[in-house]
Amino acid sequence: MLTGEGKFGELEQLLFQAAFAEYANQIAFGIPMSQGEIVRPADFGLKGDDVVSFIQAAGPLMGGYTPALKARLAQLIAEHPKAVTQGATALDETMEMIRDQFAKFATEKVTPFAHDWHLRDELIPDSVIAEMSALGVFGLTIPEEYGGAGLPKTAMCVVSEELSRGYIGVGSLGTRSEIAAELILCGGTAEQKKQWLPRIASGELLPTAVFTEPNTGSDLGSLRTRAVREGEQWIVTGNKTWITHAARADVMTLLVRTNPAPGYKGLSMLLAPKPRGTDGNPFPAKGMTGGEIEVLGYRGMKEYEIGFDGFAVPHANLLGGEEGQGFKQLMQTFESARIQTAARAVGVAQSALDLGLAYGLERVQFGKPIYAFPRVANKIVAMAVEIMIARQLTYFAAREKDEGRRCDLEAGMAKLLSARVAWAAADNALQIHGGNGFALEYKISRVLCDARILNIFEGAAEVQAMVIARRLLEEGGN
Ligand SMILES: Cc1cc2nc3c(=O)[nH]c(=O)nc-3n(C[C@H](O)[C@H](O)[C@H](O)COP(=O)(O)OP(=O)(O)OC[C@H]3O[C@@H](n4cnc5c(N)ncnc54)[C@H](O)[C@@H]3O)c2cc1C
Repeated sequence: MLTGEGKFGELEQLLFQAAFAEYANQIAFGIPMSQGEIVRPADFGLKGDDVVSFIQAAGPLMGGYTPALKARLAQLIAEHPKAVTQGATALDETMEMIRDQFAKFATEKVTPFAHDWHLRDELIPDSVIAEMSALGVFGLTIPEEYGGAGLPKTAMCVVSEELSRGYIGVGSLGTRSEIAAELILCGGTAEQKKQWLPRIASGELLPTAVFTEPNTGSDLGSLRTRAVREGEQWIVTGNKTWITHAARADVMTLLVRTNPAPGYKGLSMLLAPKPRGTDGNPFPAKGMTGGEIEVLGYRGMKEYEIGFDGFAVPHANLLGGEEGQGFKQLMQTFESARIQTAARAVGVAQSALDLGLAYGLERVQFGKPIYAFPRVANKIVAMAVEIMIARQLTYFAAREKDEGRRCDLEAGMAKLLSARVAWAAADNALQIHGGNGFALEYKISRVLCDARILNIFEGAAEVQAMVIARRLLEEGGN
């Protein structure tokens, strides 16, 4: 397809060649899940002979990531940095126009200010949110009949990527709207869709996702916050934590236990309105208290712990009007949410590449720009190769979702890989900065902190890998 469109140029060909070689080598000799955990074929009970058979089959590909190829890629990347973002995406013209529009917005309205927001640990200004509302960010994939733009998930990827390339906080402002809208679209009643979706799409209502508790993170089945029915209200009691953008939000997608029996089945989802708070009084609502959690990165929206004690939610706001559906409803949104997080990670990785490349070309040591040293340039090359793969996988998952096919496996893989790629890119781009990378003044220090969260939320990497492996084994067994 790319060849037909004249888009599969030398850069794209070399990136693909390098990617296949690198990943085939990783399959044969070990996949780095993190710095301290390399998964090797023996971990799955494979023997030396199995590995030899794999190498014989994949052999011609495996030797392809040569020093000469790296040098040529380094040259092409330095000459055409924009091509690294747009090359081989196989996106149509509309998507490329959307990308340009949001890249321009990020370059003008986000990138110049993000580092100061981070250093001052401030909320992203309301004026930026208002501009994003006007650009349609919060209703991008909501159907037109509910006031959204009705665009495919691929558009959500492109927008999330470009905004996160500017600043992860801005790229993540739409995440909660996406989760809330997906929850309501998949599980809401007709009345709830009419009531909530247009106001979420316009950006009038900012949602927050309230799932995690102090003792319940990965294992949501053991969630304890209780909601008890009293007449036409649900009365909520319990503690939540790590709730992003909670103070400024207008509505919570609040996961509660409506049946005391343990397990997933007693969980329900409430659409719980709340007033906007301020720094001094983040939760000015009856039955609700809480405070900020200070964090390393992923600032701009702030994270909070919240206590509920007799907080009331109208019964009409039980998602789908039926108890016990909360976990199922949440799982349905995970495909979309993970695709969006993967796109955010690709954007963060790309911003690390941008910063590392610029610094490498500018910084002179031993009489030449440090980019002239292969071990510096090859770090950028490795980033470009992995970002391309992560981006392709993310778009693939989005296209599957747009086609209405099950894609939890692909979405999970895209999220797991993109998060790893973002962290590696940030770490290596910081290394290229040398000592300056360690200075708060340099943007890469923020990107490193921002990249770190991606392996933790929306499914910690270990849990994500476990879910993927389980699905693959299930399918293999069929
Ligand atoms: C900045 C930030 C923003 C967040 N925003 C939100 C939000 O808006 N709303 C919300 O509800 N939550 C939010 N979260 C919470 C987030 O979803 C959880 O942190 C995440 O689900 C992991 O849960 P936990 O922190 O309790 O870790 P735990 O579940 O306690 O796990 C700790 C570690 O143990 C390992 N682990 C756990 N289980 C397994 C297993 N079965 N096998 C192998 N290893 C395992 C993993 O390495 C994991 O990182 C946010 C968190 C952060 C840090």
